[in-house]
Amino acid sequence: MAAAEADLEVPTALCSDLLDLSAKDTALKWLQTSELPKEIYLHLARYVPKIYCLGPNLNPKSEDLLAQLALLAPLDFYLCGEDPAVGLTKLKQANKPSHLCGHVFKVGEPTYSCRECAADPTCVLCMGCFLGSVHKDHRYRMTTSGGGGFCDCGDTEAWKKGPYCQKHEPNISDASEEDPLANLSDDLIARAYNIFSVMLKYAVDMLTWEKEQELPPGLEPPEREDTYYCMLFNDEVHTYEQVIYTLQKAVNCTQKEAVSFATTVDRDGRKSVRYGDFQFCEQAKTVIVRNTGRQSKPLKVQVMHSSVVAHQCFGLKVLAWLGHVIGYSDGLRRVLCQVGLQNGPEGENSSLVDTLMLCDSKLWKGARNVYHQLLMSSLLMDLKYKKLFAIQFAKSYERLQSDFVKDDHDREYSVTDLSVQIFTVPSLARMLITEENLMATIIRTFVDHLRHRDPQGRFQFERYTAQQAFKFRRVQSLIGDLKYVLISRPTEWSDKLREKFLEGFDAFLDLMKCMQGMDPVVRQVGQHIEMEPEWEAAFTLQMKLTHIISMMQEWCANDERVLIEAYKKCLDALQHCHGGFTDGEQPITLSMCGHSVDTIRYCVSQEKVSIHLPVSRLLAGLHVLLSKTEVVYRLPEQLPLSELSPPMLIEHPLRCLVLCAQVHAGMWRRNGFSLVNQIYYYHNVKCRVEMFDKDLMMLQAGASTMDPNHFLMIVLSRFELYHIFSTADYGKRYGRENANKDTIQQNNTLIEEMLHLIMMVIGERFTPGIGQVQPCDEVKREIVHQLCIRPMSHSELVKALPEDENKETGMEKVIDAVASFKKPGVTGRGLYELRPECAKEFNLYFYHYSRADQSKAEEAQRKLKRQHGEDTALPPPALPPFCPLFASLVNLLQSDVFLAILGTVLQWALEPGGGYWSESMLQRVLHLIGMALLEERHQLESSSEDNDVTFSFTLKISRPGAPSSSPSVLAMLETLQSAPHLEVHKDMIRWILRTFSSIKKIRERSAMSPVSDTGAQTVEETVRDKDKAERKRKAEIARLRREKIMAQMSEMQRHFIDENKELFQQSLEDLEASTSTALEHSPSSPDAALLSVGPRRTRVSEKRQVVTCILCQEEQDIRADGRAMVLAAFVQRSTVMSKNRRRVLQDPDTYDPLFMHPDLSFGTHTGSCGHIMHSHCWQRYFEAVQAKEQRRQQRLRVHTSYDVENGEFLCPLCECLSNTVIPLLPLPRGSSSMSEQPSLSQWLKTVCQQTKALHALRKKEDSAGDSGPDEGERMDETRLPEGFRPDQIPKNPYSGSIKEMLTTFGTATYKVGLKVHPNEQDPRVPIMCWGSCAYTIQSIERLLHDEEKPLFGSLPCRQDDCLRSLTRFGAACWTVSSLPVVQNHFTRLLAALVPDEQVENSPGLLDVDMFHLLVSLVLSYHTLHCHDSSGLSLDAAQLHLLHLVTMAHIVQILLTSVPETTMDQESAGGEEEEEEEAAWFLYSVLGLHLGSGLREAGSGWHLWRSVKSGIVPYLRAAALFFHHLNGVPPPAELQVLGHNQFELLCGYLSLPTNLLQLYHGNRDLLDPLLQGWCSHPAVRSGLQAGALLLSFPRESNQLIDLPDDYSSLINQASSFTCPKSGGDKSRAPTLCLVCGAMLCSQSYCCQTELEGEDVGACTAHTFTCGSGVGIFLRVRESQVLFLAGKTKGCFYPPPYLDDYGETDQGLRRGNPLHLCRERYRKIQRLWRQHSITEEIGHAQEANQTLVGIDWQHL
Ligand SMILES: [Zn+2]
Ligand SMILES: [Zn+2]
Ligand SMILES: [Zn+2]
Ligand SMILES: [Zn+2]
Ligand SMILES: [Zn+2]
Ligand SMILES: [Zn+2]
Ligand SMILES: [Zn+2]
Repeated sequence: MAAAEADLEVPTALCSDLLDLSAKDTALKWLQTSELPKEIYLHLARYVPKIYCLGPNLNPKSEDLLAQLALLAPLDFYLCGEDPAVGLTKLKQANKPSHLCGHVFKVGEPTYSCRECAADPTCVLCMGCFLGSVHKDHRYRMTTSGGGGFCDCGDTEAWKKGPYCQKHEPNISDASEEDPLANLSDDLIARAYNIFSVMLKYAVDMLTWEKEQELPPGLEPPEREDTYYCMLFNDEVHTYEQVIYTLQKAVNCTQKEAVSFATTVDRDGRKSVRYGDFQFCEQAKTVIVRNTGRQSKPLKVQVMHSSVVAHQCFGLKVLAWLGHVIGYSDGLRRVLCQVGLQNGPEGENSSLVDTLMLCDSKLWKGARNVYHQLLMSSLLMDLKYKKLFAIQFAKSYERLQSDFVKDDHDREYSVTDLSVQIFTVPSLARMLITEENLMATIIRTFVDHLRHRDPQGRFQFERYTAQQAFKFRRVQSLIGDLKYVLISRPTEWSDKLREKFLEGFDAFLDLMKCMQGMDPVVRQVGQHIEMEPEWEAAFTLQMKLTHIISMMQEWCANDERVLIEAYKKCLDALQHCHGGFTDGEQPITLSMCGHSVDTIRYCVSQEKVSIHLPVSRLLAGLHVLLSKTEVVYRLPEQLPLSELSPPMLIEHPLRCLVLCAQVHAGMWRRNGFSLVNQIYYYHNVKCRVEMFDKDLMMLQAGASTMDPNHFLMIVLSRFELYHIFSTADYGKRYGRENANKDTIQQNNTLIEEMLHLIMMVIGERFTPGIGQVQPCDEVKREIVHQLCIRPMSHSELVKALPEDENKETGMEKVIDAVASFKKPGVTGRGLYELRPECAKEFNLYFYHYSRADQSKAEEAQRKLKRQHGEDTALPPPALPPFCPLFASLVNLLQSDVFLAILGTVLQWALEPGGGYWSESMLQRVLHLIGMALLEERHQLESSSEDNDVTFSFTLKISRPGAPSSSPSVLAMLETLQSAPHLEVHKDMIRWILRTFSSIKKIRERSAMSPVSDTGAQTVEETVRDKDKAERKRKAEIARLRREKIMAQMSEMQRHFIDENKELFQQSLEDLEASTSTALEHSPSSPDAALLSVGPRRTRVSEKRQVVTCILCQEEQDIRADGRAMVLAAFVQRSTVMSKNRRRVLQDPDTYDPLFMHPDLSFGTHTGSCGHIMHSHCWQRYFEAVQAKEQRRQQRLRVHTSYDVENGEFLCPLCECLSNTVIPLLPLPRGSSSMSEQPSLSQWLKTVCQQTKALHALRKKEDSAGDSGPDEGERMDETRLPEGFRPDQIPKNPYSGSIKEMLTTFGTATYKVGLKVHPNEQDPRVPIMCWGSCAYTIQSIERLLHDEEKPLFGSLPCRQDDCLRSLTRFGAACWTVSSLPVVQNHFTRLLAALVPDEQVENSPGLLDVDMFHLLVSLVLSYHTLHCHDSSGLSLDAAQLHLLHLVTMAHIVQILLTSVPETTMDQESAGGEEEEEEEAAWFLYSVLGLHLGSGLREAGSGWHLWRSVKSGIVPYLRAAALFFHHLNGVPPPAELQVLGHNQFELLCGYLSLPTNLLQLYHGNRDLLDPLLQGWCSHPAVRSGLQAGALLLSFPRESNQLIDLPDDYSSLINQASSFTCPKSGGDKSRAPTLCLVCGAMLCSQSYCCQTELEGEDVGACTAHTFTCGSGVGIFLRVRESQVLFLAGKTKGCFYPPPYLDDYGETDQGLRRGNPLHLCRERYRKIQRLWRQHSITEEIGHAQEANQTLVGIDWQHL
């Protein structure tokens, strides 16, 4: 350890040595030498180890300073050939910068992409460029960068439009691409080349150096010491905790140091954890390896010689230096590129850049980051070398990927991650495909890494080991690369490109072949499968490849020659997979209705079947493209159409669809969930495009080239239904003989599914190429069908639609055509509603509906029709015509087998009773008939001549069935129309018959000359209409009755569940009614002005108040001697009104809360839900909760949303969080004595005498303990004021239970407010109660003011009740406290205004909040008054106290009034001259006392204005206080908003309107007081020191202002660094919405200890900023966080919405977000109402998972 101690000395000694070094001399030496590398190495060998790595605590700052001086400065000098300060500036000026922005993104920085103009989603702009671009008015997407990557501004290939922002717009003059070297002198180029060559080689050598103790030749240090580092390397295997634990053991460090080590290792990839001699370091290494090697690969540790580490450190610095100097000149950058890419002595691929790339996976994170940065700022910024680099990158691609797969670092730390920068450039990608065969290389590399195959060569994920699974995960990034390459389709094809693309396509088909038929399943019969087979890997692969498969098809569609070749190749591949598809399967012949076909005997339910058929599906896609591109019509001779074997094409897709049907039918139950999941994904929006949709297309392709009868027979056979429909009387036989219900049920479902399949094959024509539609029609139809289910938000729709490789759904283009947008309110989100005219496009059997969707949509659409008074038939919609290639599909509808199927089902429906029939089966048959009729009508209408139409469904269904005895389909329909058991389908059958007859008419009309037979028709129709109307009316009545019964039933259910609650609610309503009547005080003389305070105050008699206990439902009188009734209440500390968040409660045990500072820095707030209980009922309830909680904790160890140990509980009625109860008290009986009352000065004198007497008495009592006997003598000494009897102990008017509750609430307020242990004896208990009363009133007053509500009458009942109880409690709490204690409080309070020699340390006037003082004085005066029998009234005392405190407040306001601003005096002048003069006079008096301390006053007008506006909040609070204290109703004018509030308040408070009369009327008394106030040292210093003075009225606190555009917040957060770990980016930057502080949340680095526990930055912050309550915005997540205490929290929707009225929590969608002021106000209101904790409680009750989160770590 000697080295460590000497460490401090070294730098100083070294400094002088280094300072002597002249950069110039060194550089000149280098300029002259012929052996530059050797000279430089000599220099580095000598100085690098002297500067870097000299001790255990690396001190980068001094190192960097010295390095700059001794090492980098000579380099600069050499490069410039002169003083770098001059040379570099010259370079900069001569430079013509490129038009690329190239800004490299920091983690979390916002990036913007334009959804209209970006070539692909990876093209992004930095904020600066974005704001100066055209795209800010386009549809853009905003995301946060994961770090790395750069701004694409200026890259013309990245943007279809607007590639330059204003800043990077090129000048027209230098539009031509110039050689950047042209700007540099040859000398400079030569020097740059030389120095770059040496230094880059040095850096590369050092970073890739693998020996721990030796250095490369030429760098060996002159002297070598025994100093080593024990270097710990990062891996992704061990957790933070493991590393921390191990380090503590291995190197004997504290937890804190270990955390810091681990953080650095994680960030930089390595960190030395020990410094010393070799032995010492080796020890640590052994311990670490031993400790971490038990379960897994041990952590990597190396013992490295200090000189090696030193050179590596400097190597990194060199790379940074290179990056820095090339920033001066594009020419230098080109030189560096040349140096980096030129081949070394080893030839091919031996350039320095190659060397680095090939060592990439061996380097530590920090080194990788540095050189990746350099690559980005050099090679990728130079257009010429970007291309050369791309070629090198592609050449090494396979090797780099293999290294990456073996490496365990995330991809963002791998050089392979640069692929996004290269492959997404279309011209580069194209070049790499043709020159380097990139496409095939990527695909082959990928396939190569998945070697585990089954005997047929297919992938086999099932048997994967953990290692293989890991590899599989990593190798998936290759698919991403392939996507980049394919993302922009070529517009022109060269022969070379065709050749190479098709080579890539071959490779791709090889991949597809490995997937075709993988993971096959076999139906499990008998017992359930033992183990769920692995299925996810195969689906992951499918999902990842989905877009690739689609893109492959798009490329093919782009060029007809490619399409034809690809089609042939794909067909070959399919034939290869299923060559001679009778894999030993028996051929059989099927025949029906005179048709027969050969097929094989194959049962899905018995043999292997696979859901993975990518080759078939790719072929299906290409087949449709043949039609879409019309290649099939133009070049049929080039296509192998004759080779197609339709039965072979459809076989596997059909099997797959049958599998789904059988799973639905419940036949595969024993195969477990894995199969269910696979079927789910098969249809899911993420996969279906390249799975389900393509299978259906393949069926359409096959069926269109087959005899429809053959197709249907094969379908029947695969569905295993052939035997049912081929035997005519099957139904009858079946019903009698087979009683197996399960089988019948299964068959019914299979028939339904089969009918649905036929519908889809015929009806799904919305893909371009199949039907004659546009691409947007497909999207429109999807949206229409989603909105037919219900109105949806934008994000819901996006989720329901397939996204393309650019993450676009195409929705925005069409949505307005089919839907209208409804904006959200303060909650909820914006919704799209279907336009009514689009409802006719609704298809009940839409192929992307799940069963649940289908039934919801059916219900919704029927309801809609009923509402519009239409019949409820949901006939099929009109369809677009097929493309010619698929046109023959419609013949399915008139084929014999089809008609036979229809006939059979209808026949069954006619003879119900057997179980072999279902309503949905019939419904589908009717739908199919409808489709056929529409098809026929469409053909008739669109054909010019009758004989064109070959479709004759109507004729065929009019003919008798197959056995000529059986009735025709039409006849059966007519019979069914009147069948009683088919009521639901009647509308549909009627629709069919109507359509049928209309078609018949068209046929007749076109056959004959048109005859007008409208007359008969109308008669017929009116009769029918009448009939229909009548039926409809009856149905309507029935429906209404049904709905009513349903409603009643659900009502009953709810009653049953909530029986008790309902009861409560009812009683509550009664109660509210009763209290409100009880409180209608009747003033004695209604016309007199209402006075709330003073001897002449309005007398009220409160009516008897009866309330009901929510727990026992008993009624109870509120009486002082009655049983106590209590309100559930929640007491919390608050800083909501704080004007000084830096003031914190230091030591609660010694803190004296008697005076509140005017900055209101912390207070205690009391709130209540207003629910009333008996105190004993509540006590029993709370005990029960406690007991339950104890049991629960023992059993489950789970948290609840409330903390029972802290006295918390939920209100039994409304579940509102509460932590105590307030007793309800009656209005104290007013003293009736109306005798003459003393004036203020007389009264004050009396009170002073009384306090003095008490003081003497106390003193005597104290000393009485010592000198007992002479009690009587002393009594005489203290002359007692007249009528004052301190020995008279007042009688406590309250019952025992009320007294108990008084103590309970008092203790709770004390405990919570001061955060101390409960102690009912503590003298501070009453102070805290008065404080809470005052604080709560003040906060409510502010709330009412800011929300512009009238002072009285606008509070909700519960708050009124709470304030009243709180005030009356405040007035009564002295009865349970010690009298002397409270009297002492009063004495001290009064002394703040009236000097009292017995009291020391009274605060100055400017340090007291006057409203708090008023409340405390009034409420504590009771203790003095209770001894008084002289007739002094309490009312008079209240008034005098009010006057005195008001006077003090006026002085306070005047002293702190802000200087006059240029206000317009004239307008208001004249009216209040008296007041203005009086104010001026008072101010001059104050000036007299204070001298120069007081500012010059502007004018009396201004002073009076200040007083008037400054005092209003105080007057309002006082009015609320006296109203609740004395029960005097407020004047009606104060219950509305009005202008003359000031006068009204003065009147109600018995104050003169000219408040200064208070002074002028009592100058004798007040002048000395004024002098006293002004001479208080605190006042003088407060005014003089230029200290920050609070002025009145205090401005209400608001949450901080938020920017309108969310991205400016992201930007702000991205430049925020963790305050504790020097300059690191914070992972979860979080903004305090109360004070605006940015915090580094949810991270080890910023954890601090709070009350003995480690807490995160947010929790720690709440304790200073919000006394435990916090409101934050998690910027990266776009999420509001509420925290309360250490254990409670919840997330809340942010006030930022996108244009669709939705929030984006987690920032996943990336739509631009803007501030919604209403929502922000709502959050602010929650905060100011002190409802955050309550909100958290409700959230946690609603969502139990929130309870488990470790909120304190955020
Ligand atoms: Zn930019
Ligand atoms: Zn730009
Ligand atoms: Zn744009
Ligand atoms: Zn009760
Ligand atoms: Zn409640
Ligand atoms: Zn804060
Ligand atoms: Zn931090």
